[in-house]
Amino acid sequence: MHRNGPPGTFVRLGGVRISLPTDQIVAVEQARGAVTVAFGGMRFIGVEQGRLTFVRVRDLWPEERLSPDRSWKMTLETHWVTSVHENGCQAWPSLCASCTHARAIPSSHGSVFTLCQLSSIDARFSRYPTLPVLACPGYETSPAAGIAPDPKPVAP
Ligand code: SF4
Repeated sequence: MHRNGPPGTFVRLGGVRISLPTDQIVAVEQARGAVTVAFGGMRFIGVEQGRLTFVRVRDLWPEERLSPDRSWKMTLETHWVTSVHENGCQAWPSLCASCTHARAIPSSHGSVFTLCQLSSIDARFSRYPTLPVLACPGYETSPAAGIAPDPKPVAP
């Protein structure tokens, strides 16, 4: 388990025990077998090393109530999460994640960039689209429903 919260803080979702920064949770809702967890003071920075990654940008609790061992980064397995919304907008998954034209380009720092291969033949498409892409005229569902990783890491 990654060090997401102060020692001993976790939530149990079904049979899975997930370590979370419980001091940053502002709302929890459970319905139809799923749980919606709302965080404050956290920013979604994308998928790093295959995990959804969030950083703590502001503490919600006063310093005296906080654990000195609290973590500054939360990472979650992608298969635990249906979607990520930030400021009312869907931030993950992007359409590119299931598009046949997308190719995942791992960087030497462990991040993964999305390359749109349509950009090489159509100027309407950016080589590295700004994510999330929520609507796109070039979108075509990938038979593999996932981005094929490029074997060669590149610098960002
Ligand atoms: S065509 Fe659109 S959805 Fe597909 S990879 Fe390019 S930008 Fe993403």
